[in-house]
Amino acid sequence: MNIMKKLFLSILLILPFLSIAQNYCGTLQTEEQLTWLRDFQANYTGSDFRGGDTYYVPLKVHIVGTDEGTGYMNAQTVMQDICDLNDKFAATGFHFYLFEGINYINNDDYYNHDWDDGYLMMVNNNVANVSNMYFVNDPVGNCGYFSYGGDATAINNDCGGIGNSTIAHELGHFFSLPHTFYGWEWGEPAASDQEEVDGDNCNSAADGFCDTPPDYAPFRWNCSSPPDYTDPDGVEFTPDGTYYMSYSNDACTDKFSEEQMDAMRGNLNGPRNNLSDHPAVTFTDVDSTALIAPEDGAVHQYPNYTVLKWKAVENAEGYVLQIAYTPTFSAVKYDIFTTDTFFLATDLAAEFNYKWRVKVLGEANTCEPAGNYRTFETGAEYLSAIDENNLVFDQFIVYPNPTNNTEMLHVDISSAVTKDVLLQITDMTGKVMYAENYKIATSKQTLNIPVQKFAEGIYLMHVSDATNIQVQKIIITK
Ligand SMILES: [Zn+2]
Repeated sequence: MNIMKKLFLSILLILPFLSIAQNYCGTLQTEEQLTWLRDFQANYTGSDFRGGDTYYVPLKVHIVGTDEGTGYMNAQTVMQDICDLNDKFAATGFHFYLFEGINYINNDDYYNHDWDDGYLMMVNNNVANVSNMYFVNDPVGNCGYFSYGGDATAINNDCGGIGNSTIAHELGHFFSLPHTFYGWEWGEPAASDQEEVDGDNCNSAADGFCDTPPDYAPFRWNCSSPPDYTDPDGVEFTPDGTYYMSYSNDACTDKFSEEQMDAMRGNLNGPRNNLSDHPAVTFTDVDSTALIAPEDGAVHQYPNYTVLKWKAVENAEGYVLQIAYTPTFSAVKYDIFTTDTFFLATDLAAEFNYKWRVKVLGEANTCEPAGNYRTFETGAEYLSAIDENNLVFDQFIVYPNPTNNTEMLHVDISSAVTKDVLLQITDMTGKVMYAENYKIATSKQTLNIPVQKFAEGIYLMHVSDATNIQVQKIIITK
């Protein structure tokens, strides 16, 4: 192996470690913000809520990319995260479910944000009556945080991978829990505020839970070599690294305490009972899907126009489509949540062998494995004039085009036979900007599409029935 190649490989190996955030958690709770918890703890008589009930909790996932729509957190990983999260919360009775798909946001200021922009990201995008979670590249230098002002959690993409405990930790904050070392975030507290090993002051010191032992470690530590401390009584101890609300390494943590779980249930049934203001949700089993097109091993696909289709699955809430460079799907080109049963890839490399597969999501169920994959190969030739010859409709005229983003876009359309169609407008990354169902008749009709909120750029309008897709390029100017 030549030196340049070696150097390149070692840079690739080092980079993921360099990009790990410096701080584990940026959540700073004040006593003022713990008012509800302190009151709950003062009146705590034991398990009011251990009924074995399942509480379905709506989780709104926002995946933030750059202005150009790059850098998205892998949707497939997020689906697995929700599965893992439900394992971690199993003893609480909480079952998190993906609320109305994934919201993709393109914004450089949110992608790498400071506190002010993180707050703006949340107030501008939060969905009401759900737990909002934002996956970003840099949440103020942390692995994650819960914001009281923004009432949402932000997760660093690098800390949100498979097996992480950041997500469970931040949701612990969302449901009122302080760190097990509460009080040490700002330096050493007064001796009277340091929790003692004998439990004398467990009600008033630190997190106020008597079944979480003293913890004075406000930094990342590994449970195989825990730090040593001495409490105000002179008793030596090491903290317990198995709590999600501690700062021990992800692999060390595996639980919330009984009192922590009671507090979260009390919080969900109290100040957060708006989370149940939704139609009832159930766990739905779904089958895997069958891939339709392109056929396995297809060649000469257009790099800028490859349509992938798969069969609709009964009871499916959505699909995660992946187009990968490698058979293990460790390196993906597209990884996107969609409620459609097709996807138009417009940004593939020429003369490349891709692998693709689809994972089916059921209601409250993101845990089904992805189906088998197929391969296809792109050719050297690009499609220059998209569509035109493949006429599904007798008439399909979009005007004015180019259009400016202060006016309506009009579509004159008719079909040889009456058919139900889905009209969608996507940006060039495949993000759906507009979607509406129409019934197309044999006589000409004019559809009026609002594009006032669209940024300047090139978009694709897709009109599809059960078997065909027709696409037109739209240009929006200012
Ligand atoms: Zn924290």
